Amino acid sequence: MTETLHIVGGGMAGSEAAWQAAEAGVPVVIHEMRPKVETFAHRTGNLAEMVCSNSFRSDDHEQNAVGLLHWEMLQAGSLVMRSAYDHRLPAGGALAVDRDPFSEAVTDRLRAHPNITISNEEIDTLPDDGRWIFATGPLTSEGLGKSIATETGADALAFFDAIAPIVYAETIDMDTAWRQSRYDKGETEDERKAYINCPMTRDEYEAFIDALLAADKTEFHEGETAGYFDGCLPIEVMAERGRETLRHGPMKPVGLTNPHQPDVKPWAVVQLRRDNALGTLYNIVGFQTKMKYGAQASVFRMIPGLQDAKFARLGGIHRNTFLNSPTLLDDQMRLRSRPNVRFAGQITGVEGYVESAAMGLASGRMAAAEILGRPVPAIPQDTAHGALIHHITGGAEAKTFQPMNVNFGLFRPVEGLKGGRRGRRDRYKAYTDRAKAAWSDWLTAQEAQPA
Ligand SMILES: Cc1cc2nc3c(=O)[nH]c(=O)nc-3n(C[C@H](O)[C@H](O)[C@H](O)COP(=O)(O)OP(=O)(O)OC[C@H]3O[C@@H](n4cnc5c(N)ncnc54)[C@H](O)[C@@H]3O)c2cc1C
Repeated sequence: MTETLHIVGGGMAGSEAAWQAAEAGVPVVIHEMRPKVETFAHRTGNLAEMVCSNSFRSDDHEQNAVGLLHWEMLQAGSLVMRSAYDHRLPAGGALAVDRDPFSEAVTDRLRAHPNITISNEEIDTLPDDGRWIFATGPLTSEGLGKSIATETGADALAFFDAIAPIVYAETIDMDTAWRQSRYDKGETEDERKAYINCPMTRDEYEAFIDALLAADKTEFHEGETAGYFDGCLPIEVMAERGRETLRHGPMKPVGLTNPHQPDVKPWAVVQLRRDNALGTLYNIVGFQTKMKYGAQASVFRMIPGLQDAKFARLGGIHRNTFLNSPTLLDDQMRLRSRPNVRFAGQITGVEGYVESAAMGLASGRMAAAEILGRPVPAIPQDTAHGALIHHITGGAEAKTFQPMNVNFGLFRPVEGLKGGRRGRRDRYKAYTDRAKAAWSDWLTAQEAQPA
């Protein structure tokens, strides 16, 4: 008899993982705690509930990385993506979804599948045997969170994300900014030049503080405690505590010399730190924020050197349970210390409905293949799925790991194409063409496997 796959959490990732494994012929039990145990954000007992916005973001599969993820998922028979299209609402280039009919459709299809059983219960410990996927999301229940922290060590499981904005390196103006670590610290030249520094005059600093204080902010949701405050204050809260606070904190100008103007001491310096091994993404150090997205882009573009910055993701602070996946998971999304357990979805350190469902798709296929004794070929890194998996399981800096949306900064460059803004359309098209070919080959290779 084929071994059963247990999936904990029937959200975006768990629902997709269950569908993929069941379609491959594996019996699946989904353990979903709702409606018996509620979270502060979910409203229904449906699977794949959209907890906030009703958007799957851009549907442009030629010029946008999330649109490419849509395309790849559809090719792989994704239940979540098919249902999203079936319940699409008009929204220009975005894939907006009629949320209740969407999640009802996903629930009905999973309930009706002959290989799937749904059990409404909370699972609060990591199991010693059997095959499992944990897809319990940003609001993983407390008991399970404790069990995971016992296994991984408390430092490797976060309960809040405090995300600093991430900038595409190629959009930083290096005629204004420069590379240098504070006090030139580091053993190697790379380490001594690990940071990108953006200088500010006194007037620029004062204007920046005014803009921070005036910007629109997001409130915490009810039930989403603000216990994060000790270690990672939002920059605007630091600014509220005193106009000089930032200049003595993340924007302190000490230990740095601007080679463009060696005789002028900057009043403040904003530092950016490399965010991925490819060196295509940089995060703004210490700039976690609750400013609304619209406000963030305009406030951060006031920083000299970032006036034309393009953001791979904007900052935020949310309740979010997630693993330090680069240290904990192997490239098959298994827990290194307990390989019978996989993780999927937002808890692996991706961010967003689509990314979470995509990680469900990948882990469901991997787990099913393992159970059926047909090892699945590695997902090519040049696909949107592969770029994300590569990032969370090894490409990202483990020390500063924070959840990530899919974006072209995670992709390996296509050789021979023009950099900068001018070449962007051609570059993105080249990324998506390359990804589509690699994804199609990957799917075909699985179909060719003997039953
Ligand atoms: C307040 C809030 C707002 C958000 N807004 C957006 C947004 O607008 N757009 C966006 O793209 N993303 C948003 N997100 C992120 C969003 O949650 C994820 O993108 C997506 O839902 C994650 O999918 P998932 O399957 O990993 O987790 P979920 O969809 O949350 O599914 C996890 C499931 O596991 C269940 N569960 C938890 N613990 C247990 C347990 N111990 N036993 C059994 N079941 C359990 C939960 O009930 C839930 O059904 C938001 C998150 C939060 C918290």
